Amino acid sequence: MSENESGHPSDLMNKLVSLSKRRGFIFQSSEIYGGVGSVYDYGPLGIELKNKIQQHWWREMVYRHDNIVGVDAGILMNPEVWVASGHVGAFSDPLVECTNCHRRFRADELADIEAGNADEQQCPSCGTRGNWTEPRQFDLMFKTFMGVVQDDKATVYLRPETAQGIFVNFKNVQDSARQKVPFGIAQVGKAFRNEITPGNFIFRTREFEQMEMQYFVKPGSEDEHFEAWMERRMDWVKSLGIREDRLRLHEHGPDELAHYCKRAFDIEYRFPFGWQEFEGIHNRTDYDLGNHQEHSGKKLEYFDPASQERYVPYVVETSAGLSRTLLVVLADAYDEEELENETRIVLRLSPKLAPIQAAVFPLVKKDGMPEISEKLAADLRGQFNVQHDVAGSIGKRYRRQDEAGTPFCLTIDGETLENGSVTVRDRDTLAQERVSLDSVAAYLADAIHKA
Ligand code: ATP
Repeated sequence: MSENESGHPSDLMNKLVSLSKRRGFIFQSSEIYGGVGSVYDYGPLGIELKNKIQQHWWREMVYRHDNIVGVDAGILMNPEVWVASGHVGAFSDPLVECTNCHRRFRADELADIEAGNADEQQCPSCGTRGNWTEPRQFDLMFKTFMGVVQDDKATVYLRPETAQGIFVNFKNVQDSARQKVPFGIAQVGKAFRNEITPGNFIFRTREFEQMEMQYFVKPGSEDEHFEAWMERRMDWVKSLGIREDRLRLHEHGPDELAHYCKRAFDIEYRFPFGWQEFEGIHNRTDYDLGNHQEHSGKKLEYFDPASQERYVPYVVETSAGLSRTLLVVLADAYDEEELENETRIVLRLSPKLAPIQAAVFPLVKKDGMPEISEKLAADLRGQFNVQHDVAGSIGKRYRRQDEAGTPFCLTIDGETLENGSVTVRDRDTLAQERVSLDSVAAYLADAIHKA
C-alpha cells in the first residue's frame, strides 16, 4: 500500500471523505441544495463517535476531578461579553491571513504589506514569505439580530468560543457549587467562526464544537498547574489510541502568543497535510476575569478563607476541538491492507470509541440461526450498541463492519446449534475464537474496558 511521508495511506483525506459518506459518519450540510460553505452534518455513525469522544472527555475532566464541574451556557450572549473579551475590537481591523499556517494578523502591523510588498512579507508565525490573503475588514464572528428590528442595538453574535460562557458564570458556579480555588469549569458546545480559509474536510469549519475547561488558580501557582494539565491532556489523547509518533507538543513563541496568553502549548497531530493543532493549553492569566470585572462592574474576585486574601484568579485553559479531535481519531484509525486479493479498508478505532461495538450475524438464513442471532442482539442492546445484519454474504458483512470500525463480529453458525457457542472475530487480528452465548456480554465488557 502506498503511503505518504506522514505514514498515512496515500490520498487519505479524499478516502476519509468518501468513507464518511458511504458509511454514514459525516455528510456535507444541506447537500441536496449543493451544500453550504464548510459546514458538515454527522450521520448515524458520526454522532456515535462524536458522543463517545465527548463522553470520554467529560468522564476524564468532570467525573474524575471533584473540583471540576460542568456548565452549558447559551450560544447567544450579551454583546458586551465580546467587547470585554477583545473579540469585537480585534476583528474590526483589516486582517490578512497566512495561507500556510492560517494565522491572522492586522495588515497595518506588517511593514511589507503596509508598503504594498506582500510578496516580501514574512509570516511572523511560520516564517514563510508571500502567502497572504488580500487585506479585508474581517469579522470573525457571525452576527445576527435579536428581536424584530435589525439595527446595531439588536446585534448579537454566535459565540466564536465556548470559554466566555464559562468566565461570565465564574461567580454563579463558585457560589452554587461551593468550590474553592483551584477549581475548574468544563463545557462542551458549538462555536462559530466565519473562517477566511476553511478546509481540509472537518479540520477547519465555520460551525464546530469545542471541549473546554477553565481552571481557576491562585496567581503565582499557574505555572505548576499549567505543566500538570499539559501532561494530563497528552495522556488523555494517548488514551484514545492515537499513535504516539504522530503526536507532539508545540510551544508558542513570542510571535505566536495570543494577546491574552502568557504561555501556550498546542497538542499537534501529524495529519496528511502536516502537523496541526487540535488542542491548546493556555495560561490566560487574569485577562478574562479582569476584563469582565471591569466591563460589567461586578466583582469577580475570590476570597480565600484560609489566607484571608482576595484576588482575581488566574486561568489555565485546556481547549480542544471536538470535531477536530474526531478527525484525528478517524485519520489515525484508517488503514488498508491486502486480504484475499482485495483491499480491506478498516477503521482501527479503539473499542471504547467504536460507534458499533459488536455486530451479530447468522451465518446463513436458515436452521433457526436468524432467530438466535436476533435474540443475542436484543440481549446485548442496552448495554452495547449492537447491529444485527443478515444481508449479503458473510464476507460482505465483515467488510461493512470493518469500514465502520466495529471491533467484534459475532456469528451464529452450525456449532452454535450444537454447543451454544458463537464465533467472535477480532477486527484487527482477524483471529476467531468461540465464546458461549451466555458469556458474550462479559467478554465484550471486558474487551472494551481493557481498551
Ligand atoms: P487555528 O489556529 O487552527 O485557527 P485557534 O488557535 O484559533 O485554531 P483556538 O481558538 O485555540 O484555536 O481553539 C481551540 C480549539 O478549537 C482548536 O485547537 C481546534 O481544535 C478548535 N477549532 C478552532 N477553530 C476551529 C475551526 N474553525 N474548525 C474546527 N475546529 C476549530
